[in-house]
Amino acid sequence: MSQRKIVVEPDPILRKKSEFLEKVDDELRRLLDDMLETMYSAPGIGLAAVQVGVLKRAIVIDVSKDKEKKNPFFLINPEIISTSKNTSIHEEGCLSLPGYFAEIERPSECQVKYIDYHGKKKEIKANGLLSTCIQHEIDHLNGVLFIDYLSKLKRDMIVKKLVKQKKELDKVVL
Ligand code: ZN
Repeated sequence: MSQRKIVVEPDPILRKKSEFLEKVDDELRRLLDDMLETMYSAPGIGLAAVQVGVLKRAIVIDVSKDKEKKNPFFLINPEIISTSKNTSIHEEGCLSLPGYFAEIERPSECQVKYIDYHGKKKEIKANGLLSTCIQHEIDHLNGVLFIDYLSKLKRDMIVKKLVKQKKELDKVVL
């Protein structure tokens, strides 16, 4: 396993739609392992492949509270089958928007079909934090970021600040 570089907004790749995967092979599992290591070290609770620059529909998630007992969850080609009418609000952050958080309203529950790490078809009914996290990560596969749910004014302000942060980072690297 090795860590990969996380893509930070603004970057046009974060706005692209990821492609469906045709098969689960060792190359994909290597990507998933790298994504998991990258996510744990960030630290974060979810990461989509596009966030490490790969436009494939693959997600890693671990919402377990216990740092000792890791509970990684891999979703390949995830698709939301249905969502609940009732909604809930969670404060969301994103590894591609470092330092920014906002309260986002989403359906409380979602039913998702996906392919697992071993290539098996699975289905899950998620609620709570897991449901929010799955919806946030599937958004990434469609080029959507959580700031898109905010007003244009708020969104522009965050992106402007991120551009400034990036410029300062470049200076330090040089
Ligand atoms: Zn994110």
